[in-house]
Amino acid sequence: MRIAVINRDRCQPRKCSKECEYFCPPVRTGDETIVFEDSKPLITENLCVGCGICVRKCPFGAITITNLPEEMEAPVHRYGQNGFALYGLPIPMEGKVTGILGQNGIGKSTAISILSGILKPNLGKNASWDEVLERFTGSALGDYLKKVADQGIKTAYKPQYVDRIPKSYSGPVRGLLDRTDERGALEGLVENLGLSRLMDREISGLSGGELQRVAIAATAARDAEFYFFDEISPYLDIHQRINVARILQNLAEGKAVMVVEHDLALLDLLAEAVHLIYGTPGAYGVITRPKGVRIGINQYLKGNLPEENVRIRSEAIAFEVHAPRIEKDVPTLVDYDAFTKEYSSFTLKAEPGVIRSGEVVGILGPNGIGKSTYIKILAGVERPTTGNFDLKLKVSYKPQYLKAESDMTVQRLLRETTHDFDSSYYQSEILRPMGLEPFMDQNLTELSGGELQRVAITACLSREADIYLLDEPSAHLDVEQRMLAAKVMRRFAESTERSVLVVDHDIYLIDLLSERLIVFEGEPGVLGIAYPPYEMREGMNVFLKGIGITFRRDEETRRPRVNKPGSRLDRAQRDSGEYYYLIEEA
Ligand code: ADP
Ligand code: ADP
Ligand code: SF4
Repeated sequence: MRIAVINRDRCQPRKCSKECEYFCPPVRTGDETIVFEDSKPLITENLCVGCGICVRKCPFGAITITNLPEEMEAPVHRYGQNGFALYGLPIPMEGKVTGILGQNGIGKSTAISILSGILKPNLGKNASWDEVLERFTGSALGDYLKKVADQGIKTAYKPQYVDRIPKSYSGPVRGLLDRTDERGALEGLVENLGLSRLMDREISGLSGGELQRVAIAATAARDAEFYFFDEISPYLDIHQRINVARILQNLAEGKAVMVVEHDLALLDLLAEAVHLIYGTPGAYGVITRPKGVRIGINQYLKGNLPEENVRIRSEAIAFEVHAPRIEKDVPTLVDYDAFTKEYSSFTLKAEPGVIRSGEVVGILGPNGIGKSTYIKILAGVERPTTGNFDLKLKVSYKPQYLKAESDMTVQRLLRETTHDFDSSYYQSEILRPMGLEPFMDQNLTELSGGELQRVAITACLSREADIYLLDEPSAHLDVEQRMLAAKVMRRFAESTERSVLVVDHDIYLIDLLSERLIVFEGEPGVLGIAYPPYEMREGMNVFLKGIGITFRRDEETRRPRVNKPGSRLDRAQRDSGEYYYLIEEA
């Protein structure tokens, strides 16, 4: 079984010499394996011999040819000839939160559109509902789809990109939320999500984190049979993430809740079961049967799915069990005194500290606690109220909220940012691992949220500066993209001897990325206290003690897992003060 997929956005026959057709061996011997229709190529899969020559010859990397195992059934859905193919479907389970874990572009939204009745599955041809139902007959999924086909299913859906909400709604938050109050749960949700103070605010004036919580409330307030949340973590701090997890678990009592989430500590805490999706983004995706959440995440990290008998990655994603050792004799980039900053209603107090050259420092703390203010003061953009220093450090900054302002290509933006664009270092250490090559010639305004994020991280690292500050680089990146970005940032810091500071709320990313931690505590919007950079163990202990959470280590992958509050391990770890790096018994 072979599938040939052509990415219609990338394919630009006007700008090439039709290399795919010219070099295709069967075409040369007279078969019509590749033909051009309306100036676009069409590949006939059963005439293709799978040599892969067209894949290598296409100057835009628009073609993917995949050999699938013989026993694979026809796809559940295919976007036409040479379009993306989806195999399998997740199963909504009443009374449970089910997670979906997979790369961007692997078919998650397609699957959800089918389950919501927005997209009728075509089985890769032009199948009728009867044919679809026959295929799934006698299964839980079959019963569910029958309901979708017969009377439709009432679905509530939280979209992935909450930044777009102000484009379709205007007016106060109350107006938007009131019309979603279908089961009398709105008041409780507003309270739980901390939205009471925002009810009279204009939607257009909300921050990303506020929009995220409004969107979650609006979805959960509906009276639906199937609830779907496409990413809940972007722009929320750890407190808020855990809070949303509890809200969705309550919602699942008697309802089916499905969640796409790339923050693995959160997914682990939130879901009971997960479906993994593997394949090639943009070409095809295969949805596995549901797995227990612990096993599923472990298999995903290890890159090996034994039940399906597939390897999805050549390398496992591994965690260091012990805190990284501190290296001595590292040059100091900046040695700063204590300082404070007073705004009319907010005070920041920073203890003195040292940031070293070539290190990655993770920054942990809730939203509104003064993290950006702190950085602006180090950068000399803001003056401290007390504390006398003038560091004049040049800072390159990636903001939390991204907007493609100008209509230029990715390549042009990066060329304008760095003189090193063509150097082999830049190409092999930054561009390639960040996966930007496929959309180099696309305009910034055409990019998806995850693509724009990767461009913004790359642009930030491309500028000439002393300190690089990235605010929430994980937003909208999938698990593999997070890991690759972490590697790029670490290597960048090491090889250029600059310092990279990263604010993020994904504990796994912070763990993989940081050598030391700056922890912020206090009361958001009122008082922030910034501690000096700590080594990892101390930093994690201070941070987690502050939010009252302990982590244990998974026996198999050593990944951190949130302990159940009050459990034996939770109590023991609190007593010993080890919130994160469990001391292993010999
Ligand atoms: P995910 O939600 O995992 O990011 P999607 O289900 O949105 O993935 O998309 C999977 C693939 O299907 C993408 O490569 C996308 O280009 C393609 N695709 C999505 N919608 C359509 C459509 N309406 N027509 C053709 N291709 C589509
Ligand atoms: P974080 O980066 O941790 O989310 P910020 O440093 O952005 O926090 O903000 C901390 C607090 O300081 C917030 O309550 C914010 O409203 C307030 N603040 C930030 N900048 C200013 C300013 N220029 N004037 C008045 N208040 C400000
Ligand atoms: Fe032709 Fe080979 Fe491409 Fe198949 S893989 S379409 S045979 S060039």
